Amino acid sequence: MILRGELVDWYSCDLHVHTALSPCASEEMTPAAILLEAMERGLDVIGICDHNSARNLEAIVALSPAAGIKVFCGMEVQTQEEVHVLCFFHTVREALDFQDVVYSRLPKKKNVREYFGSQLVFDHNGELVGEEEQLLLTSVSADLKTVCDEVAKRGGMAIPSHVDRMAFGLLGVLGMIPDGLSVSALEISRTLTPEEAKTRWKDISRFSLITSSDAHCLGDIGAARVQALMNHPSLSEFRLALMGIEGRKVVIPGRGL
Ligand SMILES: [Zn+2]
Ligand SMILES: [Zn+2]
Repeated sequence: MILRGELVDWYSCDLHVHTALSPCASEEMTPAAILLEAMERGLDVIGICDHNSARNLEAIVALSPAAGIKVFCGMEVQTQEEVHVLCFFHTVREALDFQDVVYSRLPKKKNVREYFGSQLVFDHNGELVGEEEQLLLTSVSADLKTVCDEVAKRGGMAIPSHVDRMAFGLLGVLGMIPDGLSVSALEISRTLTPEEAKTRWKDISRFSLITSSDAHCLGDIGAARVQALMNHPSLSEFRLALMGIEGRKVVIPGRGL
């Protein structure tokens, strides 16, 4: 398809993948293994979204060109209402700058590996270099609106995750979508079709929807995804696709939108 003289194509995107940095994720979720799995599953774009941290982004972005996978730099922030939000940035640097804000809002508690799980950190060669000591599986002292506004102010893209889930989902926790929230889309669980979501929550029709795997183990990568029609795989293009600008679009395969 030609769009303003440029070639556009469909890109297969799973924007919600955890690495072994998330204590609830399998230790098999190393940057190299994730990229290999994404490649084998026919993905073009993956979003790396660890709980409240961006520390493995540098590793996975450094290794991604060899795999031919575009990595969107994200993290899954847990707000003080206990709502999960995927927060994406254009670069690793921008994500790490945002991480500084997130860390400053986390309770000063150390992870208890035996209880929560390990929080593995990898370097740009994909080598294990240690563990994150800060407890990541907890809420920041900032509400949903503040988190989304901060992401927007920094030119990022906020997408509340698994909104239909009772635990940590926007609709499950709050039962409604607050007015004036700076979000680019809502993520629905892979167990729900967009039609089912719109029937259960009328509010949802106002937003673009995505679905993702929320993979915590290799076998789940790409288990849910969206197809995005874009000029090239970038966060800017994806955001335009969510808005349906100039023929770009995002669809949930096999489910309609
Ligand atoms: Zn979550
Ligand atoms: Zn998640």
